[in-house]
Amino acid sequence: MERRAKKRALRAEYIYNGREYMRDYALVYGKKIEDIVKVDELSTLHPSVELEDLGNGSILYPGFINTHVHLEFSSNTTQLRYGDFLEWLYSVIEKRERVLDEATKEVMSKACMQMLESGVTGFGAISSYGLELEVCRQTPQRVTFFNELIGSIPSAADALYADFRDRVERSFECAHEERITPAIAVHAPYSVHPVLLKKAVSMARERGMPLSTHFMESRYEREWLDGAKGGFAGFFEKFFNTTVPVNSPGEFLRTFDGYPSLFVHCTHMNEQEMRHLEKEGHHIAHCPRSNRLLGCGRLPLERISSPLSLATDGLSSNYSLNIFDELKAALMMHSGADAVKLSEKLMRMVTSQAASAIASEAGVIERGAPSDFALVRLPSMPQESELLALHTILHVDRAERVWIAGEECL
Ligand SMILES: [Zn+2]
Repeated sequence: MERRAKKRALRAEYIYNGREYMRDYALVYGKKIEDIVKVDELSTLHPSVELEDLGNGSILYPGFINTHVHLEFSSNTTQLRYGDFLEWLYSVIEKRERVLDEATKEVMSKACMQMLESGVTGFGAISSYGLELEVCRQTPQRVTFFNELIGSIPSAADALYADFRDRVERSFECAHEERITPAIAVHAPYSVHPVLLKKAVSMARERGMPLSTHFMESRYEREWLDGAKGGFAGFFEKFFNTTVPVNSPGEFLRTFDGYPSLFVHCTHMNEQEMRHLEKEGHHIAHCPRSNRLLGCGRLPLERISSPLSLATDGLSSNYSLNIFDELKAALMMHSGADAVKLSEKLMRMVTSQAASAIASEAGVIERGAPSDFALVRLPSMPQESELLALHTILHVDRAERVWIAGEECL
């Protein structure tokens, strides 16, 4: 039987509901948020609840959501080669066994804790092998468990699909009593055969599972898919003995039509693809530090109208899973954007928009939403409330306290 959290109330100087900052409100919560009221009305409306005042400088956020992380590669610090996507990929192939072996349960749990300490109460775990399932069952956070499908060679397709299906079923086995949502990730347009792609997308549709894919991450991917040229040509010839891409970008994209999914990176997508994602209601996960470190450039945020989330990617292409590190990097990377407006957008990208990207009810502070919160504290409250998002990004490195389903877990 699930434990019932007691009904309590929290008052922060500001509560951010996933869209805007509300001053002098209190929220009444158990496992879910029961009410949000003006502080001076609390004793009339909820006479029996006990109010905890979180004090000066406090901002209560919905627990942050990191929509894209690879926990299985958490042991990497200096092993993989950064700077260029293709060189990185060769180093992943060369060092994969060792990096995976060294990603023990302790190492992966530590990665989850680093996210928790930065206020992340939910994340999308891209699972290539299912090695982190146990860690995801034990971590306090909500996990959208993206079982990844990869495989471009027809002769190996059946075996790869069977293994993928087994991993999907294993993630369903622990979906009931725990905070795991089984989901599907298609690796990328250059690495998944169209037959496998269609099967995976159908499975997601039939079982109502969140669906994600890497898309147009590097210029190599662009050149290869557009004209079988560039650095990927040598790569595919060497490892797969082929000179022809398995998908065209257009066909690949159309397979997802009618099923809003999460497209990761998109740094090299063209105008037509941008409009297609928008029309189909797809979400985009933006991983600025990963893109920077692998030489993939900058996602042109200012040209994108699709809903966006911000994600760290894995420690295979980053140096921390702290969401505040990612927010700071995004703020600095998009140097042409207005800092105040960009900060507000970024806070939505780690809360309400991140939640909708993975079909989660969290990411907002509103009646009926799960009681997942991250408390942060500013050194002093800025006079202008429009600077709250910017100052949160600048002055906060970790959450002071974190709640998941009404239980304090940090
Ligand atoms: Zn990824």
